[in-house]
Amino acid sequence: MKAKLQPQLIEYKLDRRKLDITLERLRMYQPPEGYWLGFSGGKDSTTLKTLAQMAGVKFTAHFNITGLDPPEVIKFTKTYHPDVILEPPPRTLWELIPKWGPPTRLHRWCCQELKERTPPNGAIVALGIRAAESRRRATYTLLERCYRRPGIARFHPIIDWTDADIWAFIREYNIPYCSLYDEGWVRVSCLMCPFARLKERPAHAARYPNVALQFVRAFDRLLQQRPFGQSYHIKTPAHLFMWWMEKWHKGDPIPTEDDALNLIFPNGHTPADHERMKGHIHP
Ligand code: SF4
Repeated sequence: MKAKLQPQLIEYKLDRRKLDITLERLRMYQPPEGYWLGFSGGKDSTTLKTLAQMAGVKFTAHFNITGLDPPEVIKFTKTYHPDVILEPPPRTLWELIPKWGPPTRLHRWCCQELKERTPPNGAIVALGIRAAESRRRATYTLLERCYRRPGIARFHPIIDWTDADIWAFIREYNIPYCSLYDEGWVRVSCLMCPFARLKERPAHAARYPNVALQFVRAFDRLLQQRPFGQSYHIKTPAHLFMWWMEKWHKGDPIPTEDDALNLIFPNGHTPADHERMKGHIHP
């Protein structure tokens, strides 16, 4: 497999000193029971897991299923990392949306409920988080106490690795990675995540319409149970979906079911897609 990399990433050589320091970090902080290693099928956690193996440290790798994981990621994990423990959530995202509302940048409940739920108290959780990923992550340190669950320590051995470091490592050691990177994906994470880039979310909806339709149906159940977005006069699941996708703003004409379907099926939709949206036909 060959990722479509920018020229500067292809030419970049692996920084051996950084690699050695990272292996040493992994050995130095190793708890007697081993790390609880968070695996997501992306390039960073794939790198981290490989480094833990190279360092010879004890760990168990866990993949907390969110229900928004691209099928290509699950396939990659099952194929190349069969030792990773897949952890299905006790309650699905679709069951939780009527309770918590749509996950948004300001109300990011799904990470806590679905992604960060399983490490036991006392665990040192090794994560492939890097400072280069975002301004927020740039504030993270090598080892810190989890502010949500103080009984857990979060360990970030590759915090100072750049994208170029990651790809140089993957290339040099010929490490298999998820096929989505070859299609130009920069980040492999939850589909339609509110933190994804604006143009990625509609692209995800169009590629995985069943996931988008599940959101519409979950929004329908939410609106049947309680009002949402009263100041925006949101009354229909299609309207809520378009707002959540940042395709409708206050003052715009109220979006219709067709507007939502046009977003999910940009190449045209059928009457059966209308029925699927309402849950009359299950995908
Ligand atoms: S959708 Fe985004 S915010 Fe929600 S669990 Fe996935 S990564 Fe976290």
